[in-house]
Parts: sequence; C-alpha cells; structure tokens
Amino acid sequence: MQVPHLNTIVIVGGGTAGWMTAIALATALRGRYRIRLVESDEIGIVGVGEATIPMIQRFNTVAGIDEAEFLKATNGTFKLGVEFVNWGRLGDRYTHGFGRLGQDLWMVGFEQYWHKMRALGQARDLADYSITRAAARANKFMLPRTDLGNSPLGEITYAYHFDASLYARHLRKLSEARGVERTEGKIVRVTQREHDGHVDAVVMENGERIEGDLFIDCSGFRGLLIEQTLEAGYEDWSHWLPCDRALAVPCESVPALTPYTRATAHKSGWQWRIPLQNRIGNGHVYCSRYISDDEAAHVLLSNLDGKPLADPRPIRFTTGMRKKAWDKNVVAIGLSSGFLEPIESTSIHMIQDAIQRLLDYFPDQGFSATDVEAFNRLSRFHYERIRDFIILHYHANQRDDAAFWQACARMEIPATLRDKIDLFRTHGRLRRVDSELFTEVGWLQVLVGQNIHPQAYHPLVDVQSEEGIRDYMEGVADVIRQCVDFMPDHAAFIDGYCKAPKM
Ligand code: FAD
Repeated sequence: MQVPHLNTIVIVGGGTAGWMTAIALATALRGRYRIRLVESDEIGIVGVGEATIPMIQRFNTVAGIDEAEFLKATNGTFKLGVEFVNWGRLGDRYTHGFGRLGQDLWMVGFEQYWHKMRALGQARDLADYSITRAAARANKFMLPRTDLGNSPLGEITYAYHFDASLYARHLRKLSEARGVERTEGKIVRVTQREHDGHVDAVVMENGERIEGDLFIDCSGFRGLLIEQTLEAGYEDWSHWLPCDRALAVPCESVPALTPYTRATAHKSGWQWRIPLQNRIGNGHVYCSRYISDDEAAHVLLSNLDGKPLADPRPIRFTTGMRKKAWDKNVVAIGLSSGFLEPIESTSIHMIQDAIQRLLDYFPDQGFSATDVEAFNRLSRFHYERIRDFIILHYHANQRDDAAFWQACARMEIPATLRDKIDLFRTHGRLRRVDSELFTEVGWLQVLVGQNIHPQAYHPLVDVQSEEGIRDYMEGVADVIRQCVDFMPDHAAFIDGYCKAPKM
C-alpha cells in the first residue's frame, strides 16, 4: 500500500548502478511511485565494469531484458569463468569456472575423490571435470540444453562481458519506456530537513530543486549523499586489498574470441582482459606503493594483444565498504557503497544484491530503524564474505620474484578467512556460510589453482576402490570431452545469436 510519506524516489547517478536501480524499481514498483534519475554528462561514469557473474541472468530476466537484444546493444560476449595467470607462481595458469565440478559420487563430494586420486598421481586437471572450464579452454560456447536429461550440456553456467557505457544506455532506454524521468545536469547542493537530517532535495546547477522522499545514492566513488552529505563513514580495507589505482585501455580485437576473462598477475598488481565483440577491454590494477603510474602504464601497454584504441585512463580507489550503506532516507548502491577488487567481477553483482535487499526492506511504511539495521547487517555480511575470497587470491601466492606479492603472502588475514584455509588444509573441507556468494566449488578452484592442497581427504572416500573411483572419474571426463566437441565456437555462436551491428 502506498503511504503519503513516500511518493518520489530520486536516484542520483546514471552509471551501471543508477540505471540498474532505475529499471529494477520501475519494473517492481509498476508506477506506484514517481522515479526520477539525475546524471551529469559532464561528470560521466566510471566506464569500467565489463565482466559479470552468472547471477546477472536473473537480474535481466526479472527486469524483462531480452538476452540477445541486450548483447547486440552492448557488443556483449559470453563468460564461462576467469583464467588466472601467474597468481600462485610465475607461469601458473588455472581457471575459476562457473557452475559444478564433476558429478557427485556416492556419499561425499566429487572433489574429495579428486584429492585422493591427485595424491596418487591419477587425477586429471580439474578442468577436465568441468563443462565450463573445458569449454572455455576450447573457446566453445552454447546456451544450456535442458532437454538432454542430466547431460553436462544442461549445466553450462555463464555470465557476460559487455561495454559498460552501452549497458547503461540500454538500461536507460528501457527504464524511460517504463516511466523513469531523467534529468541531466550537475547537482551542486544537497539540502536536508532540519528536524531529522533526512535529505529532502538535490539542487541542480541551473537552480532546479529536485525533491524526493527516498534517495538512492548511485553517484559513484564520491558518495555525494551518503558520504559528502550524511558522512556515513568508510571502512578502509587497503591493508588487505592494497591495490589502489587502475589504468584502463581498450585495444583492437584479435582471434580467438575467448569466452572468459583473463587476469594476469604482474609484479605489483594484475591486468584484466575482457573480450567484447568489437574490442578488448584491458586494465592494470596496481598498488601505487610498489610501482609508479608511468611504469604501470608501460606494463599495461606492453601486454596488450592488439593495438591500443585510446590512451590509458587513470582511476583511483580505496578498497573497503561504507559503514552504513543505508542512512536516514539515503541508500547507497554501487561504488558509493564501497569497492572491492574487480578480480572476481563482483561489483555489478553487489549492485543487484543491494537492489534486491532494498526491495526486501522497501520502506513503504516509512523508515524503520530495525529494517535499516537489518539491511546494513546483510550488506556487511556479503561484503566481508566476498572480501575474504578476494584476499585469498592475493595471499595464497608463492611468488618470490616481487616484493608486492611477498608482502601479500605475509600479511595478517581476517580470522574468517584463516579458518576457511585451515579447514581446507586438513581434510579439504569447505563450508559455504549461509547465503555467501561464492560456492565450495569456487573456493576449491582458487585454493587448488594457487597450490594449496589438503593434507588428507575425507575418510569415506576409502570405502570405494581406487579402480572404481578412477573408472568413474574417467567416465565423467569422457562425457565432458564429448559435450565440448559438440559445442560450437564462441564466435560462431555469437554470429548466429546476438551479433552486434557494425557502427
Ligand atoms: P559511476 O559509473 O561512477 O556513476 C556515477 C554517476 O553519478 C554518473 O552518472 C555521474 O554522472 C553521477 N554523478 C556523480 N556526481 C554527480 C553530480 N554532482 N551531479 C550529477 N550526477 C552526478 N565491476 C564488475 O562487476 N566487473 C568488473 O569487471 C569491474 N571492473 C572494475 C574495474 C575497476 C578498475 C573499477 C574501479 C571498477 C570495476 N567494477 C567492476 C565496478 C563497476 O565499474 C561499478 O560497480 C559500476 O560501474 C557501477 O558504478 P556506479 O554506477 O556506482 O558509478
């Protein structure tokens, strides 16, 4: 039921966060509230954030976004995981693929049998037991086929790569068609109610005053409302996630069109490679205490596959989270609520997650301290769990060639992460806590990919004969190999399904 004190929702910012929020609210609330969005062409958007994780499919479905249309509009490609190069040791290479691993055998997880057979020198690479990893390695892709019983072809779990500016533009078109009102211009002042400090309006450069009851701060790193106005505070995690700068540059495409993101560790950070239909997005994320900006640009430009299409664009950040993502009548979504490393492409997911949480705790009856607290508690839970997973990538390294990596290997890590690693080291046990984002399979791939192996496996594994386990695992690998042979090339699939028109 709509109540008088919540009529107008104002979204400040028109980047990925702003337009995702706009389309989600316009779709979910169906015209019950006035939704306005303010963005400044002069300030622009951060313009990176082009790799996603599979949950975005759910967002697109709920928001009524047609997959093929959206990929055409954004030069999008498919993503089956992230390939990590040089993370454990120089020369190491592994993929964190989406979805399942193997087929569950008997009483314990597939990975437990793998640990045993690996210790005996009789296991294949993990990639041979995962349809997404095996397909990524072969540059293959197709949509999952759910009509083939329990074939791995029904388990192709995927996400997207897309052009961030085109994504925002696509969402804007759909949102405006659903009634969102856009105002272009710079906000120069924010006004607050005297009696309780709630924001009551943003004031534009031309003097226009945009009033609202609920404000969503999607203004990016600056946190125009949540920080510059309400001073909600920021928890700095740079002692765990020390990279603080990035340089981004697009380059020309080269074949093959890979269905995965690549993250290559350099001496003082790492470089992303995100293949789109018309170009490759690249960026060097680095720690300014260990490398100068000029050197970082040199490293980036020396490691491109194609000719650069622009000059490298600098971005600065501090990893961490806003102490209160929701304060008074302001909810921060996107970079205004915090920033973790882009290494596992989690930021856009966190936007989606925050939007869902806002809908779960939607303040249609006014602002309840209990609801706000619950929202903030859940935000913290997700931030902290993802933070731990990302720290693992930095901490679990054996690089002896670079001071940056050695410092990461030596650093004190959060107790929650320490517990996870210790549990794994003894018997390979991994337990997903509540609704934390990354699954046991995700943790396993990164731990093993970065050379952390358990000392023992689950005792129930020994109930089966070695021969039985070997035959079963070979069977799984065989089926996956046949499925990958059947799949089309990623580029061919895109040509037939969602080829973007040439501009
Ligand atoms: P922005 O894009 O910065 O948008 C801010 C908006 O606020 C703009 O429209 C701006 O005009 C407006 N605004 C600000 N101030 C004013 C004002 N005074 N008046 C009017 N309007 C104003 N995420 C992923 O999921 N995957 C990735 O691969 C990934 N890679 C990343 C790499 C790097 C180096 C960085 C820094 C981030 C990455 N992210 C990634 C995060 C991702 O880019 C962001 O989560 C996403 O783009 C959302 O940004 P935003 O909308 O919060 O902010």
